[in-house]
Amino acid sequence: MKEREKARELILTHGTNSPFEIAAQKNIVVLYEDLGKNIWGYFTCTNRIPCIHINNRLNYMRALFTGAHELAHGILHPSINTPFLRRNTLFSVDKLERQANRFAIHLLIGLKEPEAGETRQQFLFRCGIPELFHDFY
Ligand SMILES: [Zn+2]
Repeated sequence: MKEREKARELILTHGTNSPFEIAAQKNIVVLYEDLGKNIWGYFTCTNRIPCIHINNRLNYMRALFTGAHELAHGILHPSINTPFLRRNTLFSVDKLERQANRFAIHLLIGLKEPEAGETRQQFLFRCGIPELFHDFY
């Protein structure tokens, strides 16, 4: 199933497109930690407890995107402890990372549609997606 349909299905199931509300409903722990300058977040599943780790140095928009990206790993790749989402993820050719980024974008877009005259960039900003990831749309 494509990432877009998966994201929409998740939104309809949980009644929200907030990665943090969905994580709470699915009993996925969200932890904020100082992960240094280069790491945005990562996903782990230890003793069957899924956990999203987010760098507490990120601004809100980046933390939200990281939450959506790591939630994507939890949904799409639940048994894999994912590699870190690094600053240079934009250039990553890793299949799991690309899937997680596409899923995150469609989750944050939710059921919103571009308005007349709105550019792709304006639309994606309105949905809370950092520019670094616009090419995954
Ligand atoms: Zn990732």
